[in-house]
Amino acid sequence: MIRYNDIIGQEEVKQILREQIVSGKIPHAQLFYGPEGVGKMAMALSFASTLLCQHPVNGQPCGQCTSCKMMEQLEHPDLHFVFPVLQSKEVSDQYLEKFRAMLLESPYFDLQEWHERLRVTTQQPKIFVSESERILNKISLTSQQGGYKVMIIYQPERMMAQAANKLLKILEEPTPRTVFLLVSDAPEQLLTTIVSRTQRISFRPLTTDEIRTALIERNALGEEDALRIARLSGGSYTRALQQIHIDEDTALFFDLFVLLMRLAYQRKIKELSDWSDQIATWGRERQKHFLEYCQHMVRENFIYNFRDERLNYMSQKEQDFAVNFARFINERNVYGLMQEFQDAQRDIAQNGNAKMVFFDLTMKVIILLLK
Ligand SMILES: [Zn+2]
Repeated sequence: MIRYNDIIGQEEVKQILREQIVSGKIPHAQLFYGPEGVGKMAMALSFASTLLCQHPVNGQPCGQCTSCKMMEQLEHPDLHFVFPVLQSKEVSDQYLEKFRAMLLESPYFDLQEWHERLRVTTQQPKIFVSESERILNKISLTSQQGGYKVMIIYQPERMMAQAANKLLKILEEPTPRTVFLLVSDAPEQLLTTIVSRTQRISFRPLTTDEIRTALIERNALGEEDALRIARLSGGSYTRALQQIHIDEDTALFFDLFVLLMRLAYQRKIKELSDWSDQIATWGRERQKHFLEYCQHMVRENFIYNFRDERLNYMSQKEQDFAVNFARFINERNVYGLMQEFQDAQRDIAQNGNAKMVFFDLTMKVIILLLK
């Protein structure tokens, strides 16, 4: 279960919510708004746990009662979710397992991550009018555990107009002991009439120091990496987590690029085949990123030969490699190599057989490296 202690920063919000519980004055509709990745959903889940807990202690969930146990898996019958889905006939419940799984992995995520889990490519997920019927049904039920009912609406700004109008009607006539928590990255896109019905609770971007500390304590990063990533994060812990993945992938991409060049130079066909097989097991997006990375390395190593610091966009590790490798990239092969990596990227994007695309690529690299 997510407790307030698991949420980074946002002390003012925690204080407001604790006071609500202690005083028993709980607004029936609350709008948690602020930038992506600062803990709004984590806070909503934590607050929901408190509302549903049978014996909250100092405005916090007890962690012991049956309600708290059910909240461990976010499977409390009086906790409901609404979030954007793909098609107008669909409702959130059809994707509830996926949504829960994402929240249980980490309540710090963003819309992009939800899109990936829905496997969306071009559409923009929305909350359709069919959802409002469900909302009405759910709030008209008696609560199963005899206490509050909590409905968390993620991205209410993605409601279609009809759905938003129905929600407005629902908020205008509060149902006893039912609390709506609207979790929004873009409150300016909400109907002003909806906003005016809610208690607005503002979340601020996290400070560099809060993120740095979290990265050290939760993600076991060293001081230096933690500070660098915290500075790049723009106050979003979600973005910081994404940067960790990018860093890990970049390290792997570097190793695989170095390996490709070494094996191609030595003409080790069997090993090159293994190399291709390994990359062929990845998802296509990652394969494309890797091929982009290869183009970056080819370009930077070619430029490295001009010995001009101002033109250099390589990390220290990449530069150390360039000291001995750059001379293999020259005006006779740079264009050919770039072209081959680009072609492979295009073939992957067009669903070409990854094993063949990558193995074919290694053969071309053998030939081009010797020019
Ligand atoms: Zn409890």
